[in-house]
Amino acid sequence: MSQNTKSLIVQSLIFVKQNPQIIFSLALIILIPTLFFVFSALILNITQKQFDRHLQQNAVSLAKTIETFIGNDISSDLHNQKEIQNKILKLVGASIWLEDIAVFIPRAEQGIFFTIASFNPKAVNKEVRSTDALLAWQTGQTIAVPKKDLKTGVSYWLSSTPLKNDQNKVVGILSIALSRAEIEQVIQKLSFNLYGFSLIFSLILILFVANHARLFQYAVLLMKLRELDQAKDEFISTVSHELRTPLTTIRGYLSLIQEGTLGALNDQLKKGIDIVMLEVKRLYDLVEDLLEVSRIEQGRLSIEKELVVLNDFIKNICDELSIKAKEKSLELKFIDSPERLTLHTDKNRLKQIVVNLIGNSIKYTLSGFIEVGLLKESKDFIAIYVKDTGIGISAPDQEKLFTKFFRVQSEQTAKITGTGLGLWITKKITEALGGKIYLESIKGQGSKFTLLFPFK
Ligand code: ADP
Repeated sequence: MSQNTKSLIVQSLIFVKQNPQIIFSLALIILIPTLFFVFSALILNITQKQFDRHLQQNAVSLAKTIETFIGNDISSDLHNQKEIQNKILKLVGASIWLEDIAVFIPRAEQGIFFTIASFNPKAVNKEVRSTDALLAWQTGQTIAVPKKDLKTGVSYWLSSTPLKNDQNKVVGILSIALSRAEIEQVIQKLSFNLYGFSLIFSLILILFVANHARLFQYAVLLMKLRELDQAKDEFISTVSHELRTPLTTIRGYLSLIQEGTLGALNDQLKKGIDIVMLEVKRLYDLVEDLLEVSRIEQGRLSIEKELVVLNDFIKNICDELSIKAKEKSLELKFIDSPERLTLHTDKNRLKQIVVNLIGNSIKYTLSGFIEVGLLKESKDFIAIYVKDTGIGISAPDQEKLFTKFFRVQSEQTAKITGTGLGLWITKKITEALGGKIYLESIKGQGSKFTLLFPFK
């Protein structure tokens, strides 16, 4: 065995060991087609036997009929022979199965017969050596056996029936050949269909198993992806936690420096510290968002529900944020519902999502106003909406808006900082609270985010 062949075998064995499911697939590919072919052969065999038995019985009963037709006056008398030959010739073409009919009488020596009548007139008066005829002569029974003419390849059933006279003495042998051509044709057709079907089915099966193996690979891949995803979540969670502690300390010290508690600052230093503080806040926000993402993805989002009077609750949030809006010369209006609306929800989480939406409106609105509204949408739903006259979002961007890390890339958004996680978090928390979030927006004209919560 060459080195190459050896290493190929070793590699194949290693591959099979690493992917044991391949053995199952291979077994299916080999076993099922084999079963089909064996089953087909079995059916063919049974059918052929059944046909042959039928033909054999036909040969025997036909012999009886013909025996009556010929009569029992059999002798070597020439006139008698002619009469029998004439009778036999009348039967030519009587049945598609009928290949030949002949009548033999014995010669002096045992085992040698003499044809006195036949479908083939040339065979008349000729000697015949036939063990079947001899056996029928000796036993007095009909002998029917399958035969094949080696020269022509034609196969047939040959029955040898003893012809008896009035004294019940065997005086001749009636030989009938029934053709098997019809049977062979049927069997040939049947085997073509059965083996053809088995072949097609085997091919389909191989395709199916190959596909199944691929599906199996996909499943393994999916499992690996899930593991990787979990590892990534854990990594983000750990790193975010580790980052938050030093960032909190840095923020604390920066605040002290900014306030001048650790010593007076000149204008240049103050400017620099302000920039550093802004960037640290950005970093801190990112870490907070990442921690929130991993909390949501790992199903660790805590929800504690209580009855909240929404009218006061939303108004207070607007009051808190109106300072931020004013800094950008934006008006922040609150349109309250005329009726008192309460919701069984998590106060902190609801505040988080409303603050996020108003915060975004402030961030992405250059001039105009922001309107926050509370209303009863129908008898089943409460709506809280945040509407602005901001930069708006185009239809293609709206489709990707609630996915992780998505930020609209445009000249207007280039200078606005953000993580692209806020809306994803908002959507997930809204859903965790049993609500839904909707967006209507026209690029350049403004946006309207609506939160819908069902009454319980
Ligand atoms: P970011 O931290 O970038 O604000 P968000 O997930 O909150 O992340 O928002 C995703 C993107 O959606 C933003 O980058 C912005 O382009 C767009 N966006 C969100 N809110 C508004 C709004 N009110 N008006 C216009 N664009 C908005």
